[in-house]
Amino acid sequence: MDFELTEAQRAIKERTAKFADEEIAPFAKENDERAEFPWEILKRLGDSGLMGGSVPREYGGSGLDPIGEAIIFEEIGRACSSVRTIVSVQVSLVEKSIFRWGTEEQKRNYLPRLCRAEILGSFALTEPLSGSDAASIATRAEKKSDGWVLNGGKTWISTGGLSDIAIVFAKSDPLAGTKGITAFLVEKGAPGFTTKEIKGKLGLRSANTAELFFDGCFVPSKNVLGATGEGLKIALSALDNGRYGVAAGCVGIIQACIDECVKYSKGRVQFGKPIASFQLVQDMIARMHVDCDAARLLVYRAGALKDAGVRNTLETSVAKYFASEAAVRAATDAIQIHGAYGYSNEHPVERYLRDAKVATIYEGTSQIQKLIIGEHLLGVKAFV
Ligand SMILES: Cc1cc2nc3c(=O)[nH]c(=O)nc-3n(C[C@H](O)[C@H](O)[C@H](O)COP(=O)(O)OP(=O)(O)OC[C@H]3O[C@@H](n4cnc5c(N)ncnc54)[C@H](O)[C@@H]3O)c2cc1C
Repeated sequence: MDFELTEAQRAIKERTAKFADEEIAPFAKENDERAEFPWEILKRLGDSGLMGGSVPREYGGSGLDPIGEAIIFEEIGRACSSVRTIVSVQVSLVEKSIFRWGTEEQKRNYLPRLCRAEILGSFALTEPLSGSDAASIATRAEKKSDGWVLNGGKTWISTGGLSDIAIVFAKSDPLAGTKGITAFLVEKGAPGFTTKEIKGKLGLRSANTAELFFDGCFVPSKNVLGATGEGLKIALSALDNGRYGVAAGCVGIIQACIDECVKYSKGRVQFGKPIASFQLVQDMIARMHVDCDAARLLVYRAGALKDAGVRNTLETSVAKYFASEAAVRAATDAIQIHGAYGYSNEHPVERYLRDAKVATIYEGTSQIQKLIIGEHLLGVKAFV
């Protein structure tokens, strides 16, 4: 067990931190207020090689190890969770799924452009009547001679309204239960495919979230991802990657809370002393620090297992559950330390809370993570 980052990991941390401080953080407040999608930031992230994750270089990726990947999510998450969400979806859910399950033609066609952020991807599993119970999706895929026709709809899809390519899960054999779901690569502009942005979100305001509609949408056979009937397996393996990115992003939120609170508490004077000198304030900052350390180590443990090619669903769920709940706790206390000023957008801590909350909901709620943990510990089936 080695707790030191490698030289390459330290270098990626330094590079991403600089990018986050100079090119993401200064725009986070304004983009949040205006619900402005960060096109320019994504383009620069793509140009800088920070959107290629662990995809091998031969497919245009950055060839990072999983901990290097987590470091990028952490540093971007420290600056802006909207940007982190878009990057996580692109890298963890879309690029890695295409790399793992795609045909050579699909990999050559999509990965280099995704890794450079020339095109954007989305991952469409959730439906209006199917959230935690992913196997209950109702979107239908009917086989035709040269492809498939999709009918149905998805909701709450990150980047869904703007993506060039969506991984869409649909029932291809309704009688085959969990083995009757197939994943499709649906391109923007496919006939019968439309989207509508979801407005009024609590947080992640500069990220795009959308409903997707499929009305007789034709998808050619070459756009099936993985084998027919393997869709749920693909979705669950993608979520193991996605949850890892969410957990790492939450470490970034906690770190940002600590940084803001250390700064503010040293400058704010009450009772003739900086509030940093009050032990009840120190208590909140100390708890944030412990949570940050613990969350980061849980993420790195999951990353080390991924690197070793060991199954890590349990460890990833533990990291996602702990880090997301800890981020909400840290952001709540960060507002407390800022007093009334924390309750306004004069300081970023209110945004941290709004952005942290969703991490306990998407890619499997905290309750679902606990069911996964219980399933592993107790040997019982959680989702029957
Ligand atoms: C901003 C945002 C972005 C998102 N992006 C994407 C995306 O890119 N792609 C995508 O496919 N989805 C996305 N989602 C959807 C997200 O994954 C779902 O919201 C999540 O899986 C929960 O589903 P639900 O909201 O339908 O809640 P439900 O499943 O209806 O759950 C409601 C409540 O019941 C609890 N619950 C449900 N089942 C159980 C159980 N068996 N035991 C105990 N408690 C239970 C839940 O924990 C929750 O508290 C996004 C959501 C948001 C808010």
